[in-house]
Amino acid sequence: MAQTKYIFVTGGVTSSLGKGIIAASLAKLLQARGYKTTIQKLDPYINVDPGTLNPYEHGECYVTDDGAETDLDLGHYERFLNVRTSQANNVTTGRIYQSVIEKERRGEFLGKTVQVVPHITNEIKERVQILGNSGDYDIVITEIGGTVGDIESLPYIEAVRQLLWELGDNNAIVVHLTLVPYLSAAGELKTKPTQHSVKTLMESGIKADVLVCRTEHDLSEEIRHKLALFCNVKREAVIQSIDASTIYDVPNLMLEEGLDRVALQKLALPLDSEPDLTKWNQFLKRHKNPKSEVNIGLIGKYVELQDSYKSILEAFIHAGAENEVKVNVQSIHSEYIDENCIVEKIAHLDGILVAPGFGERGIEGKIDAIKYAREHNIPFLGICLGMQMAVIEYARNVLGLKEANSTEMNENTPYPVISLMEEQKTITDMGGTMRLGAWKCDITADSIAHDVYGRQQIDERHRHRYEFNDEFKEQLVAAGMKTTGLNPDTSLVEIIELKDHPWFVGVQYHPEYKSTVADPHPLFVAFVKACLTYSKKKTATLA
Ligand code: GLN
Repeated sequence: MAQTKYIFVTGGVTSSLGKGIIAASLAKLLQARGYKTTIQKLDPYINVDPGTLNPYEHGECYVTDDGAETDLDLGHYERFLNVRTSQANNVTTGRIYQSVIEKERRGEFLGKTVQVVPHITNEIKERVQILGNSGDYDIVITEIGGTVGDIESLPYIEAVRQLLWELGDNNAIVVHLTLVPYLSAAGELKTKPTQHSVKTLMESGIKADVLVCRTEHDLSEEIRHKLALFCNVKREAVIQSIDASTIYDVPNLMLEEGLDRVALQKLALPLDSEPDLTKWNQFLKRHKNPKSEVNIGLIGKYVELQDSYKSILEAFIHAGAENEVKVNVQSIHSEYIDENCIVEKIAHLDGILVAPGFGERGIEGKIDAIKYAREHNIPFLGICLGMQMAVIEYARNVLGLKEANSTEMNENTPYPVISLMEEQKTITDMGGTMRLGAWKCDITADSIAHDVYGRQQIDERHRHRYEFNDEFKEQLVAAGMKTTGLNPDTSLVEIIELKDHPWFVGVQYHPEYKSTVADPHPLFVAFVKACLTYSKKKTATLA
C-alpha cells in the first residue's frame, strides 16, 4: 500500500481567516484529481467536544453519522467533498487529555511520570495517524485550530514537528495561512505580520512549505517575491487567497493560484491529470444565475450569529442552485415575534423554517410563527425543536389543550406532548448523552416525505433529548396531523405533516447536516420548490 501523505494546515496573525475553507478547497482539488482525501480538525480547547458549547461561542455544533458532536468545519468538509466524516475527524484537547488520563488510571504508562511531551504529543500523533493508517485515504489534511503562538496550540505544533521529522520529506508538508493586511492610510499591503507568524512557527521548529495569504487586494509580484524571500518559501508556494463573494469560489481560486500543484509537487505525487470540477462548476453556474427568487424566514433565537445555523444556510444554497432560484434567507429573532407584530414580520414570506434549539427562550414566538404558517398555507419546515413546537402549536390551537408544552420548557405541563424518553430520565451528564447520529426512519406512503425521498426507508442525523409523546398520537392524528416517519425499532415519531396544508413538514432529525454541493438534501430542495410554487401563486393572485 502506498504511503499516506499528510498536509498540516496552520494559521497565523489572527483567527477567522477561514482555515477550514482553505483546507476544504485544497481537499476538493486533490479529490478532483483522483486522490482519496479526508480532512481532520484538531481543536485546542478543553471541552471534550463542542456539544456543550453555546452556539454563540463557536457557531453550530455539527453532527456526524456516528453521532460525534463536532466543530462546524466538518460540515464544510462534507459539503465540499461529499465524503462522510466521523469522530476521528475532530479531536479536542479535552478528548486528548481524557484519553491520556484514562490510560494513566488503567496503569498503561507503567509507572512513568505522565507529561505533555511525550504523552500528550504521542496521543495527538496517534489521532492524526488513525485516519492515515485506515488505508482509506491517499492524503489526510489536518487543520490545527487556533493561531500559532497560542499557549493552547503548543502541544499540537510540537506533535506536527515530530510527525514531519518521522514521516520525512515528501510525505508531510505544512501549509500556513496568514493575513496580508491593507493599510489604507499608507495605501499599502503589509507583509510584516506574515513574516512574524512564519518566524513564530520556525521557533517551534517548523518551516512552512506553502503560504496561503488572505488579502483584500491582489498581491503584486513584488510582494509575492518579498514574502517568498523573507518567509523562506519558493516563489510558487506563495498563494494569494483574495476575498471571494462565496466560499464555493475558493476551490477555483486556489486552482488558479496553483495551491494543489505546489502541494502535490512537495509531496512527490504525480500531477498527471487536471482536476475534474465539472459537477462543482455546474453547481456554481446555477448558484450564480438564478431564474427567480424566494424569501424564506429562518426563525430562531441565535440569529445574531450567522454561524449558529451554518448548515441550514448552506443547505439553502445547495437547494436554491438545484431549483435555479435565489433563496433570500431572512433571519427573524423568535424572541421578538408576538401576535401584534406577526403580520408585519411573517406575512410577506414565501416559506418559514423554524430552527433547532434548546431551552425556553423565544419558543412562544416560534409557536406564533408556526400558527401563522399553518393557518395561511405558507410552506413550513420545522427542524428538531421546530418540529416539536409544531406539535405543541397543534395541540394548543387545534386540540384546544392550551397548556400543552414540552417537558423541556415546563416539567409540570398537564399535556406533555413532547417529553423526555424513559432512557433519558436517569441521565445527569450533559455531554454526549443526547440521541445522536444516524437513525433509521420508515416513511409511510402517500406523504410529502415519501414524494421527497422517493424511498420507504431513510437514515438521518439526530441531536435531541425530547421526543414526540405517543400518548397524544391518537388525538393529534384524529385532528388532522399525520405521522409520516417512524423509527422502525422504537416507533418514535420522526416526521409530522398536516392533512389540510399544501406543504407542512416537521422533522425530529437534522436534514441540513447531510446536504452537500454534489448531493443537495431532497427535503431542502422540495421545501424551496414549495416556496417557489407558493410565491408564484401569490403573485398570480395579486395580479
Ligand atoms: N431541545 C430539544 C431537545 O433536546 C431540541 C433539540 C434540537 O433542536 N436540536 O429535544
